[in-house]
Amino acid sequence: MIKLKCKCGEQFRISEENMTKKDNVKCPNCEADLPSEIIEPLKAYAEYYVNAKEAFKRASDAAESTLNEVLDKPQDWIITTEE
Ligand SMILES: [Zn+2]
Repeated sequence: MIKLKCKCGEQFRISEENMTKKDNVKCPNCEADLPSEIIEPLKAYAEYYVNAKEAFKRASDAAESTLNEVLDKPQDWIITTEE
């Protein structure tokens, strides 16, 4: 989540996923525009973040299904994973 605080004091959040689709950001209180020299690197950051998150999800899902294939076979050990 990206947290923003405007000069008027308003604080708001934009998810990285939403930020990748935005070409402008306005303060919901005073409608001040986030300067374009901030928008571009913020958007680049958000795109990197979303891609990295998706890559992590794909890799961990693949590793988990490989693990589950082994764990589905009868065995003496009981193994579970948690966050
Ligand atoms: Zn504002």
